[in-house]
Amino acid sequence: MNQQTLAIHAGYEKDAQSTMAVPIYQSTAYEFRDTEHAANLFELKELGNIYTRLMNPTTDVFEKRFAALEGGAAAIGTASGMAAIFYAIANVAEAGDNIIVAKQVYGGTTTLTGHTIKRFGIETRYFNVQNPSEIEELIDARTKLVLFESITNPSIDVADFDAITEIANKHDILTCVDNTVATPILCNPLQLGCDIVVHSASKYTTGQGLAIGGVIVERENLVEKIKDNPRYYHFNEPDESYHGLIYSDLPLPLFTLRVRLALLRDLGAAPSPFNSWLYIQGLETLPLRMRQHSDSALAIAKFLEAHPKVKKVNYPGLESDHNYVMGQNYFKGGHSGLLSFEVEDKATAQKIADSTKIFSLVVNIGDSKSIITHPASTTHQQLSAQELIEAGVPGGLVRLSIGLEDTQDLIDDLTAALG
Ligand code: PLP
Repeated sequence: MNQQTLAIHAGYEKDAQSTMAVPIYQSTAYEFRDTEHAANLFELKELGNIYTRLMNPTTDVFEKRFAALEGGAAAIGTASGMAAIFYAIANVAEAGDNIIVAKQVYGGTTTLTGHTIKRFGIETRYFNVQNPSEIEELIDARTKLVLFESITNPSIDVADFDAITEIANKHDILTCVDNTVATPILCNPLQLGCDIVVHSASKYTTGQGLAIGGVIVERENLVEKIKDNPRYYHFNEPDESYHGLIYSDLPLPLFTLRVRLALLRDLGAAPSPFNSWLYIQGLETLPLRMRQHSDSALAIAKFLEAHPKVKKVNYPGLESDHNYVMGQNYFKGGHSGLLSFEVEDKATAQKIADSTKIFSLVVNIGDSKSIITHPASTTHQQLSAQELIEAGVPGGLVRLSIGLEDTQDLIDDLTAALG
């Protein structure tokens, strides 16, 4: 089925009331028929609702729909994109392990991987996404994950999926892609050989800056890579916290199942049913919106490229961009609404960000309202000067998230702000 149809129908079977819109099941818990039913659910002999920290019927529709859009086997919703990224890491790595992460990632991912998980004993080794061959020398027996973004935020690089997956597969290591900026409409990492996808649903999924959320999706047959793989022994040995369950023996998508049964159970960053309902509303129009965001962003990138005060524009849809060929290989139907451009220095960038009238100065992306950000003083402020350079965030960099307003109005706003 085409994605535009899946975005509107996947995952929803009408309930007894035959409602056209997916209902919001605003409930903490669910009644069991009897103790045998309860025991069967807990033992996974039967699948069904227990408690909203673990699952919820509205969230279930969101998860199934998102999995369908990514072409994955299963998905699990989380309370934020950061929770999704943390759970994807915590599902495979423990103290003494390491993960390999692209230098060019969202600032929150840099602080999570460089600082917070370090305190849990997990080491992060970084590679330059423009030079994936660096991954090879970072791998050892305790490497559990290679994590990168399909389009990086805010340096706007496109990952070389073929090069990264080739190295990771050679060593039987899982790859995890943050596909937030591309969305499943423009890029499907699981179809490009990756194992796990994470998203911040707070961005294009809701599409109007309405709610914080995240999602993890796993590919079909992931068990092939995990079964009897010593790196992932905890999927292959009895889980004492779950009656000796061995995940790789189950006929179910095991990665998201373990996030649900172990991490959501114990750490609890589950989405609220109302937010899941908002994500479902957003998904219905995602294919249409991503086309418009992409078309408008390309027109604005071309305008900026021709502007005398702009030193450089980063947008993979531009033929002059060093990511153009990669973008053609891995993206379909556009390159999303995120672009960045460089001006002379930090003060000039700040002046532009302070002068726009339609673009709002906000640290968000993927909204119907256009947004301007100065990463060096906001999202990436906690990064050292060296980390800023490595993340591709010079002081003169301005990031734009192109919304759904009229393209010419946005160009007029930028023309005035550039002065
Ligand atoms: N990944 C990317 C690419 C992001 O841009 C963001 C937030 O801006 C996140 C993850 C974190 O998502 P959230 O804010 O939903 O926790």
